[in-house]
Amino acid sequence: MALATLAKPRISQMVRILENIWAHRRKNPTFPSEEKYYELMVRYYRRIMEALEEGKTIVGHTVMSPIELFYGMDIVPMHLESTSMMMVILLGNYTEFFDAARGFGLTPETCSAHRLLAATVVQNSLPRPNFIVWTSQVCDNTSKSGDAILDLYEIPGIFLDRPYRYTEREVAYFTKELRRLVNFMEEQTGRKMDYDRLKEVVTRSQRLIELYREIAELRKNIPAPARNRCFLNSMVVEWLYAGTQEAVDYFEMVRDELRERVDKGVGAIPEERFRILTLFLPPSYDWKLMDWLEEQYGAVSVMEPYCSWWAKGEMDPERPLESIAEKSFYRSLTRQMHGPSEGIIEDAVQAAKDYAAEGAIYFAHIGCRQACALIRSMKDALKERVGIPMIALDCDIIDPSLSSGEEMRSKLDGFFEMLEESK
Ligand code: SF4
Repeated sequence: MALATLAKPRISQMVRILENIWAHRRKNPTFPSEEKYYELMVRYYRRIMEALEEGKTIVGHTVMSPIELFYGMDIVPMHLESTSMMMVILLGNYTEFFDAARGFGLTPETCSAHRLLAATVVQNSLPRPNFIVWTSQVCDNTSKSGDAILDLYEIPGIFLDRPYRYTEREVAYFTKELRRLVNFMEEQTGRKMDYDRLKEVVTRSQRLIELYREIAELRKNIPAPARNRCFLNSMVVEWLYAGTQEAVDYFEMVRDELRERVDKGVGAIPEERFRILTLFLPPSYDWKLMDWLEEQYGAVSVMEPYCSWWAKGEMDPERPLESIAEKSFYRSLTRQMHGPSEGIIEDAVQAAKDYAAEGAIYFAHIGCRQACALIRSMKDALKERVGIPMIALDCDIIDPSLSSGEEMRSKLDGFFEMLEESK
């Protein structure tokens, strides 16, 4: 098959596989929100497929881009890292893509999320967007990835510079960056931003933040009301859908499920034995590891200071651009990863206390300087200030060739033995 024909078939193939998983979930129900997650994944990629067929405007964007502005302009967003990651997970063609990345000059020292993204473009497997938006959030890999895609696809694009410190001056600067983005999108589409629509989008985005916080409160209960998959699914839904009614519906469903369990005094798993903080992200090729932790050790992830922890902040639909700019300073992942990153230590210590954590697992992704730089300080802080041990698991977030699932499980066996003895 010629390379030029790969993008459409591959996205259709992804949609078909996701539809099958969703159908399987419906036949073998677990929690309604888990079914809903697959429904949302189907809809997201189906929308991209349809946009390709109908010639609708698609924006390719990197993680933490202000998707409210895309929804406000009725442009179809395609999250670049998530789409390439979902593609390799579903199609299983790791060797093809990582070989292509190496051929393009990207070695394993570069974050695999961006090696993979470049590879899907080089292999012409990622749908070609009309333009791209990329930002300094959350790392230097992301900043450089946009340049590469722009060159490879020869399409227009815009880079947004989110400053490091959370001050009024920096928020004003980033608001200007967002205005620049609106102007750029207006030029690209020949349409004006619909500010009434944007206000509605921001209202729904604020609702999602409230629901995230309600869920975080419910998760303090013992036994834990959320399964380990819940935080991963929720994170992805927020990345792809913030500002939409679909996201609000999903998060309300999760909140209601958790509340019901809390009211009944039951946990999400039959026997809870260990309460764990999850630091950074488990490898995407082995999210089953999170199920294994539940089954093998009764270990529940009670909080994820990187992924599920939102600092204070509210969105105001009357100030949509300022609100979206501000959100990028207090929202999960960017606050902790982009900076000021020292905040993550305080967040983790607080989370360990609030959620009665007994141990912490740090997924040490080899290609991520942001996530790994604080491992030692984190380990010391958790030990000295809360008295809980932490294991740093060497892994790669996407590339399975670095660390096999068995290796991680075997290291975790030792960690849980130690936790068991100290009970
Ligand atoms: S894992 Fe780390 S290096 Fe990779 S994209 Fe995320 S923040 Fe950047």
